[in-house]
Amino acid sequence: MSPGSGVVVVGAGQAAVQLAESLREAGFTGPVTLVGEEPRPPYQRPPLSKEYLAGKVTPEDLVLRGEWFYADRGVELLVGRRAVHLDRAGRRLTLDDGAVLSYGHLVLATGARPRPLPIPGADLDGVGNLHTLGDAQELRERMESARDVVVIGAGFIGLEFAAACGARGVSPVVLDVAGQVMGRAVSAPVAAHFAERHQRNGTRLLLGRTPVELTGRGGKVGAMRLADGESLPADMVVTGIGVLPNVELAEAAGLETADGIVVDQYLRTADPAVSAIGDCAAFPDPRGVGRIRLESVQNAADQARCLAAALTGTARPYTTLPWFWSYQGDLRLQIAGLSTGHDHTVVRGEPDEGFSVFCFREGSLVAVESVNRAPDHMAARRLLTAGIRVTPDDLSDPGFSLRTQLTRAAAAPARHQPRNRGTPSGTGAA
Ligand SMILES: Cc1cc2nc3c(=O)[nH]c(=O)nc-3n(C[C@H](O)[C@H](O)[C@H](O)COP(=O)(O)OP(=O)(O)OC[C@H]3O[C@@H](n4cnc5c(N)ncnc54)[C@H](O)[C@@H]3O)c2cc1C
Repeated sequence: MSPGSGVVVVGAGQAAVQLAESLREAGFTGPVTLVGEEPRPPYQRPPLSKEYLAGKVTPEDLVLRGEWFYADRGVELLVGRRAVHLDRAGRRLTLDDGAVLSYGHLVLATGARPRPLPIPGADLDGVGNLHTLGDAQELRERMESARDVVVIGAGFIGLEFAAACGARGVSPVVLDVAGQVMGRAVSAPVAAHFAERHQRNGTRLLLGRTPVELTGRGGKVGAMRLADGESLPADMVVTGIGVLPNVELAEAAGLETADGIVVDQYLRTADPAVSAIGDCAAFPDPRGVGRIRLESVQNAADQARCLAAALTGTARPYTTLPWFWSYQGDLRLQIAGLSTGHDHTVVRGEPDEGFSVFCFREGSLVAVESVNRAPDHMAARRLLTAGIRVTPDDLSDPGFSLRTQLTRAAAAPARHQPRNRGTPSGTGAA
């Protein structure tokens, strides 16, 4: 970056705010500008589908940093403004009101948007999704009077929404074309446990079923028709069928995209003056081959920290262990690592008391999914980060203690697990 030049960030979400904070912490003194199209200051999304729907928090509680944060650190926050054109040759960014910002380094932290439902009737009133605070506000209001709630997509968002309905006394129908809840994101034992618990709590779960049409009267949704001919009443439909990364600005500027903005291990695009971080970035998988794109707060924040270090002179490759959580009713799921392509699992604990599923690929531990067993999650993160070897046999022994293993490994030089050559995976967690 040329001396005295500034960092402009497109997108004012989780990654952007962390980047601004980390740049200042690292001593960056140049101008920092965040441009966000949403009409409000940056806020946390995870509580939208959990505490916010449950009525436990207000919009004010979700704000990521107070106004003082931006003033104190000399960070310019432009909200309600959309970046519409990127001129890489001139290092200029144009906003929707015609303003032009010059940059020394541009960071694309544009996040993702809900994948549209590709069936007739998706635009009827009463059909919505859950990505922004505005969406959550609308859904919370509708939930008050809804009788027949249908959720399309049994992923994290769909199931969290279903749990929120259950807590409000509404029993939703959750439908998915896949035969397992939470798709490829979790192992079969965790998926089966969540499916059983949602059903026990009154959710009707329709797996392996395809919606073909939403119908209604007077522009308002009234029913959903399935491929097998069944029709379900529906006065409220929520879709949670994945997201699409916001790559259009990058694409129009001639940068490579492939399910995300393509970056190298230092989070740089092919243009040395442009980087991408967070949900929109497709980066090299440090644990295997190919590229991955992750949708999690941890990834957004850690990529921001990594990029801030690079922009202030201490470049290091992004290799941080991914981790993620989802709360669904009284189920607390925490995931460390990526289970994609696992070929063996070991379960420790009891379903009704809390358990963990240890996922192995070719003999190496690649991910641990803990349900209501937070200590396992913390130990797993340390094990996986340090590359401390544990075997399926170790974990199958009820007397084996993860904590003891960690203590022993700390006292002795670590025996690192062989790194696996995994399969390229698509989107990540949320
Ligand atoms: C309902 C919900 C629940 C979630 N729950 C969890 C969870 O439990 N755990 C977890 O780890 N993660 C969760 N996530 C995912 C997590 O919130 C995201 O991974 C994280 O917010 C990504 O940060 P980001 O900065 O990359 O993108 P975002 O925080 O989405 O910010 C990107 C911002 O860029 C803006 N933008 C895009 N294009 C432009 C443009 N051209 N000009 C200006 N602004 C633009 C967008 O409007 C958006 O505000 C959840 C997400 C949702 C929606």
